[in-house]
Amino acid sequence: MPQTTHPSHQRPCGWNNWLTARQPRPILRGHSHADVVIVGAGYTGFAAATAWQKARPEDRIKILEADQVGEGSPGRNSGFMLEIALANDARPEELGRMEKLNALSRKTMALLRERVEGLKIDCQLEHSGTYRAARSAIGQRALSQYEAFLKAAGLSYQTLNSSQLAERIGTRYYAQGIYSPDCYLVQPAALIVGLANSLAASIELHEHSPATQIVPDGKKWRVTTPEGEVVAERVVLANNAFSRAFGADSSRLTAIYTYAAITEPLAEPERQRIAATTWGLLPAHRLGCTLRTTADGRLMIRSCYSYEREADNARIENQLRASLEVRYPELAPVRFDKVWGGTTGLTYNGAPLWGEIQPGLYVSAGCNGGGIVKGTFLGDALARHAMGQPVENIASLFGKASWMPPDPVRRLGFYLTSEVERRKAKHET
Ligand SMILES: Cc1cc2nc3c(=O)[nH]c(=O)nc-3n(C[C@H](O)[C@H](O)[C@H](O)COP(=O)(O)OP(=O)(O)OC[C@H]3O[C@@H](n4cnc5c(N)ncnc54)[C@H](O)[C@@H]3O)c2cc1C
Repeated sequence: MPQTTHPSHQRPCGWNNWLTARQPRPILRGHSHADVVIVGAGYTGFAAATAWQKARPEDRIKILEADQVGEGSPGRNSGFMLEIALANDARPEELGRMEKLNALSRKTMALLRERVEGLKIDCQLEHSGTYRAARSAIGQRALSQYEAFLKAAGLSYQTLNSSQLAERIGTRYYAQGIYSPDCYLVQPAALIVGLANSLAASIELHEHSPATQIVPDGKKWRVTTPEGEVVAERVVLANNAFSRAFGADSSRLTAIYTYAAITEPLAEPERQRIAATTWGLLPAHRLGCTLRTTADGRLMIRSCYSYEREADNARIENQLRASLEVRYPELAPVRFDKVWGGTTGLTYNGAPLWGEIQPGLYVSAGCNGGGIVKGTFLGDALARHAMGQPVENIASLFGKASWMPPDPVRRLGFYLTSEVERRKAKHET
C-alpha cells in the first residue's frame, strides 16, 4: 500500500486557535529551482533551514509545509521542552552516553531560549521544571528506575509523597512523584509560528504546499506539490513519519497518533488550587497521560494512542474526560474547550532515523514524542552533514533505529503490546 504523503487532522489545533490569525506564506506555484528543499516546517525543518542559511547565506533555500504553520503537527504537542532524557529513554546502565545526550539537550535548549528571547517570540516559555508521578505498582517501578537514572547522573530532583504532590498540582490521585527542574514549558503553536515569522528573509517558506512526489532529475531531485514543482541539488526530509512516502526506511519508522484536550479556564477556587502556577506532569509509565496547566488557568491532558490512523476524536474525548475526572473529580463534568489529535514518528528502540538515504536526499525523523529539543538538534546536525561539515556521531549518541516487522505483524504487535501494557498500567492512563 502506498504511504500517505502528509497528515490531515480531524479537528483544528487547540493551541493555534488562541493565536492572532496570520497571513500564511504563499503556496508553491509553477516551476522553480533551489539549492536545498526542506520538506516540513517543524522544529527539525526550521533548525535545518537556519543552519543552512547561516553557513551558506547565498544559497536558495525553500521550505515546503503541507499545512499552515501552527496548525500542523509541531503546534499540536504538549509543549514540554526537556533538557534531559525522557523517562522511557533514560538508562542508568548507559550513563556515559546519556550524560552526553543531556549536555546536548541543555545546549540546544539554551540556544532555543536565546532565540525566543532575542526575537521576542511571545510563546509563554517558562522554566517550570516537570513532575513525574505514578499511582500503581507498575508506575512506581518506572518512577524508581527514573530516580535511579537521575541519581546516577548527578541531576537534581526532589521526591514527593502524595500530599506534597497534591499541594502543588491539586490532586491526591498519585501515590508518589518526582520533581525535576530540567524542563521548560511552552505554548507550542506560538513557538513554531514565532520561529516561522522570524526566519531569515532569504529562506522561502511555502505553506499549504505538501510535497506529493520526490523523484530524481539527473543528479538533482524534483519535488512536486499540487500546484508547483522545484528542482534542487539536495532535499532534506523533515516531515517525520511521512518521510516514508519519499524513501525513508519504513521498516524502522511508524506513525503514531496521540490526543490532547484543554479545558475552559478553570473557575476561581479551582484555578487557585490547581492552576495558580504553570506546571507540567509527564507520565512515569510510557502509556501514561501528560498533564499541564496553561498561563490562562486551563488544564490540559494528553493521552491515548492509535497506530497509523487518527482515531475517532469524539470517542477519544470521552476517554480523556474520564482520565481527567478520575484525577480531579471536583471538575466533573469536565467541559473541554478544544480536543485534537496529532501525529508523531516512532521507532522501536527510540533512536532517530537520520542521515543520507540516497545521494542528495536526507532524512531526520522519529523523535518518539520528544521532538521539540531533539528535533532542533538533529535538524541542525543534518543540515551540517548535508553541507559536508563535520558533525557529532549521531549513531553513537542516539543509537540506530532498529528494525520492525511489516504489517500486519507490526499492527498486531502494536495493539497487543499496548493492550497488555494498558491493562497493567490502567491507573496511569
Ligand atoms: C499530542 C502530542 C503531544 C506531544 N508532546 C510533546 C512534548 O510535550 N514535547 C515534545 O518535545 N514533543 C512532543 N510531541 C512530539 C513532537 O510534536 C514531535 O516530536 C516534534 O514536533 C517533531 O518535530 P519534527 O519537526 O521532527 O516533526 P513534526 O512536528 O511532525 O513536523 C513535521 C512537519 O512536516 C509537515 N509535513 C508532513 N508531510 C509533509 C509533506 N509531504 N510536505 C510538506 N510538509 C509535510 C507537517 O505538517 C509538519 O508541520 C508530541 C506530539 C503529539 C502529537
